[in-house]
Amino acid sequence: MTGKLPKEALKSLEAIADVTAWDNDLPPPRDVLLREASRSDVLITMLTARIDSEVFAIAPRLRVVGQHRGRLRHIDLAEATRRGVVVTNTPGILTETTADLAFALMLATARNIASGDRYVREGNWRIWDFNLFLGRDVHGATLGIVGLGRIGIAMAHRARGFGMRCLYYSRKRNPEAERRYRLEYATLDNLLITADFVSLHVPLTGETHSLVGKRELALMKPTAFLINTSRGSVVDTEALYEALREGRIAGAGLDVTDPEPLPIDSPLLELDNLVVTPHIGSASSATRHRMADMAVMNALTAMRGKTPPNCLNRDVLPDWRKFMRKAPWATGE
Ligand code: NAP
Repeated sequence: MTGKLPKEALKSLEAIADVTAWDNDLPPPRDVLLREASRSDVLITMLTARIDSEVFAIAPRLRVVGQHRGRLRHIDLAEATRRGVVVTNTPGILTETTADLAFALMLATARNIASGDRYVREGNWRIWDFNLFLGRDVHGATLGIVGLGRIGIAMAHRARGFGMRCLYYSRKRNPEAERRYRLEYATLDNLLITADFVSLHVPLTGETHSLVGKRELALMKPTAFLINTSRGSVVDTEALYEALREGRIAGAGLDVTDPEPLPIDSPLLELDNLVVTPHIGSASSATRHRMADMAVMNALTAMRGKTPPNCLNRDVLPDWRKFMRKAPWATGE
């Protein structure tokens, strides 16, 4: 395992396998990853370890890569399939937790929560002040959701409780969600022009890279906020910095940045109208435990020679099953 898993999840694996887990906050150095992969049958990986053709080439025994997160840009899926390795992930379970954080960023930016906290800690709070930290109302405002997938819909659900008008832009319309959450479909430009809060929930792809750049930021109202919990490169960082610095938009809440981690000397960190969190969208203990349990369950099922749930490269299954019929550890010999 390329990172730490909760003890309970670890126990069920240790009952049937020799487990080596990298026990450090930083990812394993490349030479350690290659050395351990070369003698592993199963790898359970975190987002931070790159599992590419070099890893697959050095790991002839490898038959399963289980990922402890939803998306897998860091695993070479085509190479895994070519080498007969099954890849699994843990989809869906972080939706509500990530929407909670996106909503929290919306409230934090609009109501000056981070700057208010700094103000108190720095000893500046002397008297109740009528004009201190005047923010913007979230209730009754217009939310623009970009990417109406799982997290986008969870945002729409929350927005109803705040009496918000809700616009969305996505690749295709979702009439059922429109009815259920009183959503209005808009073009991306119209959404940017109209919304008080623009919240990004698209995956990072060739199409969505820099989806929000200088032109798009210029369309937003000077009173509007941009919330990004998707991926850092969906937003052009330099353009965002300029827009925030010049007050062309009111503020931004970012859980993801480009680059990531954000270096301490990033100019973004000089701005008071920005709230930034260190990619903690799915970081509630309940969700992290569920993610770990699911990753382990995928691996255990595969190690018993059964088709693992959440298999991402089903093309590999016929070859993989042939191999697994002969693997001593899969047949219990
Ligand atoms: P999802 O269910 O796959 O939803 C993504 C939505 O974006 C889909 O409706 C998709 O439409 C739409 N979309 C894709 N490309 C688009 C484009 N070019 N233009 C407009 N819409 C487009 O994903 P999710 O589970 O909601 O997660 C969204 C993203 O959040 C993830 O990709 C991940 O990067 C990020 N995330 C971050 C954290 C965190 O810790 N901050 C945690 C979880 C997820 P189609 O249905 O047409 O594909």
